[in-house]
Amino acid sequence: MIRVIILGSGGPQPDPDAGGSSILLTIDDTNYLIDCGPGATHSMVRAGISPASINRLFISHLHYDHCLDLPFFVLSSWIGNRDEALKVFGPVGTKDFVGHLFLGGAFDADIKARSQYGRRKDNLFAVQPEVTEFGDGPFYEDERLKVRAVPVDHVPPEIMGCFGMRFDITTADGTPKSMVFSSDTAPLESVAELSTNVDLLIHECAVTDAIKEHRTATATAIVHHTTPKQLGELAAKAGVKSLIAIHQGGKETTNPVMLDMTRNHAPKGALGPGYFDRTIQGIRESYDGPVRVARDLMRVDL
Ligand SMILES: [Zn+2]
Repeated sequence: MIRVIILGSGGPQPDPDAGGSSILLTIDDTNYLIDCGPGATHSMVRAGISPASINRLFISHLHYDHCLDLPFFVLSSWIGNRDEALKVFGPVGTKDFVGHLFLGGAFDADIKARSQYGRRKDNLFAVQPEVTEFGDGPFYEDERLKVRAVPVDHVPPEIMGCFGMRFDITTADGTPKSMVFSSDTAPLESVAELSTNVDLLIHECAVTDAIKEHRTATATAIVHHTTPKQLGELAAKAGVKSLIAIHQGGKETTNPVMLDMTRNHAPKGALGPGYFDRTIQGIRESYDGPVRVARDLMRVDL
């Protein structure tokens, strides 16, 4: 059994309808978490998954919309009976990031206060995640899963490493399956190659040409993202068997606070109902396989 649940389909805006980036991959009885953006922990519980049951986390990059929920995930699984240490895999900087959070870091007083109790002292390892930093290439392997990373084009790499990942999966009955998560990136030949014939490509689709122009004009935010048309071309070229377009938080919002907060990120009238239909139309110009726009708690069985 291979199950993918989109825990957070959104981006850095606090969209009440879309959490920050987070995807749960379950292979037979083992859970793996990919990114841990804002709201991921609440979303796990909504999906019926205990945070304490997830012992592997892969972080694509250290933008807050991909890692902000990490302290909440770790602390809540500590008091929620975690019985195995969490292993965190992320780009250079992840050791530093995690090292500033727990004992001796931001939540030092919280942890010292709660560990007055014997049961909390007994599983103190739960707030001491083991961190492994990765670069280009394979970085994780167990009996069910192999993961490799490829650098993507999102922010200057000397400031922050950002990686897409390929997941090669073998279930208990021996069935091989594959999935790629692009993370945040402009369209890349290397991601298309990584995604050749995969069963599922989960690729960001965070901008349109109009949004890129507006962001450039307002000097507001990153434009190294992918448009629907570009995503369709990439998916068709790679021959992916199915596609999910992700990282579209706030794009269909009608919430007046969200519309105000995003006014420098997208031109007036660009967001709101119909955005996802236009996304699909753009992808369909080139790609004719199964395609979905990600929503929180969307589930796909591979
Ligand atoms: Zn990002």
